[in-house]
Amino acid sequence: TWTPRDCREPNFKPSELWNRVIQVHYLLEQPTHRASAYGAHLNLDKDHIAIAAPVEFMTTYFPPTKFPSGLRDEGPASTPTPFANATNRFNNAPPPSTTADFSMPTAGPDEPKFGARGSALPSGHHERRLSISSNYSRASEMVFGKDALLGPRRPRPHKIWKKKYIKLIVVGDSGLGKTTLIKSLISIPGERLQVHDGSYTPTEQFRRDPESLCSTVSWRDEEDRIIWVYRVQDTPGYGDELDVFKNLKMVVDFIEGQDKKWLDMEQSRDRKEDLAELEDPRVDLCIFCIPPHRLRPIDLKYMFELGKHVPVVPVVTKADTMTIREANTYRTEVANRIANPMVPGIHDKINIFRFERDTLERAGVPDQAIAHPPFLVIASNDISEELAGAEPPLFWPERRYPWGCAEAFNKEHSDLLALRALLMKEALEEINKVKRQRYESWRRSTLGGLKVGRKIMSALLWTIVPAIVCLQVGRAGVRIEDVRRFVRTNVDRVKRLRPAPEAKPASTPPPVVVEELPPPIVKVEPAAPAPLPAHKKGWGF
Ligand code: GDP
Repeated sequence: TWTPRDCREPNFKPSELWNRVIQVHYLLEQPTHRASAYGAHLNLDKDHIAIAAPVEFMTTYFPPTKFPSGLRDEGPASTPTPFANATNRFNNAPPPSTTADFSMPTAGPDEPKFGARGSALPSGHHERRLSISSNYSRASEMVFGKDALLGPRRPRPHKIWKKKYIKLIVVGDSGLGKTTLIKSLISIPGERLQVHDGSYTPTEQFRRDPESLCSTVSWRDEEDRIIWVYRVQDTPGYGDELDVFKNLKMVVDFIEGQDKKWLDMEQSRDRKEDLAELEDPRVDLCIFCIPPHRLRPIDLKYMFELGKHVPVVPVVTKADTMTIREANTYRTEVANRIANPMVPGIHDKINIFRFERDTLERAGVPDQAIAHPPFLVIASNDISEELAGAEPPLFWPERRYPWGCAEAFNKEHSDLLALRALLMKEALEEINKVKRQRYESWRRSTLGGLKVGRKIMSALLWTIVPAIVCLQVGRAGVRIEDVRRFVRTNVDRVKRLRPAPEAKPASTPPPVVVEELPPPIVKVEPAAPAPLPAHKKGWGF
């Protein structure tokens, strides 16, 4: 039996349990499979998931390493189960000999527990249940087990570990809490990230070594055998520069630079590994931090320009500085302004990352009625020590004030938990896919641009340059006699420089008689002195 409490265990994956439960449900419903699930019951309600089944069945489908609380010995099968209204297939099932779904193999001599088919062992139902299942499970392992090759479905191939890369960039005005947000977003208990030292993110450091402002975490998805490498790039606030567009250019250059790096890797002649093996530097999306209370035209303009290069997720930081009423009004106002900016220089839609509706629902994003609702978040460098020391420990950033406490992951206070669920779990594949699409269109336009450049060059060489020469010649005028003499002189010179042709066999056609030309006006140079013998040359060694 699993209850919501189990879901808090560190390695417990509710979604995985759910997948298995669906699988078991399927097994129970299929007449051809029923035998393998002989004696299994499944009961679901809003407080718990309960399955009663033979031990081997349970260990196959719900290995205790993955679903720790699942394997509890409930005693003999006649013991009342926690789900009174479930169909008790074990108790109501006909004796196995009449179960025509599946022909049971007979027991071998090394199986003392297994009695004659259909006869209950004296030790009672519990014993019978285990022994029958041992035979069933061996057979069913061949049909349904993880290595099965004989079942109605194709086997699930063994997967090898592969890495997938996600890179976010956090952009916004200075002092909005970008660095604090990154820390709160990706830290876990016992592994709190030090994004960088100092209270402010220097522009010079970003220009020189952006990698030093990048935080990396990684984790393994055991089910799909994927190692997620997750990086979040901090940037200096655009209020640090007198000219905001200088900062914009720096960030855009960084994003393009990462795309260019990947393009170079793709096209590299010396590449030894497949692209999938290489670290992907491309930026997936941008978390754009919006100040609380006021959305300025410069914020919209920055978001718009940046959106041309990477999709944007709008996030209002320091949400604790707004009252409930202010926060609600501001959320709607920001959504409306993003949909319809009405700022000079913004002629198109702002490129906001569009999460799938299902994904938003899974992540528990509250309001989906508005088109582009921003996330209103609270972040903090302080955490609840009490929850950090609890068992299991919890990472719980909070901001303490004399009048109360604003909790970053409390759904009543902030959307950070939903944002974290979205960006680090539910939408990972989606984000990855959008990045690849964005890159492909960037690559097409970049390489297309190069092609156009090459076409212009060749047009210059073969059309425009000759045209200019002709024009010049036309303007200055040439005497046809001069041109003829020039050509003759040069043809003659080339002929003399050419080595004399070897004697040809008689069958070869007679040489073409070339019209005798007037002697060229060639200045005869005195013959060069014969080269000295090697030992007398130069410096004498
Ligand atoms: P950055 O310059 O954008 O990276 O901002 P920092 O992360 O350095 O944060 C600047 C200040 O804002 C720090 O004093 C943070 O403690 C504070 N701060 C960060 N997040 C929040 C928040 O959600 N609410 C409030 N009230 N202050 C915050």
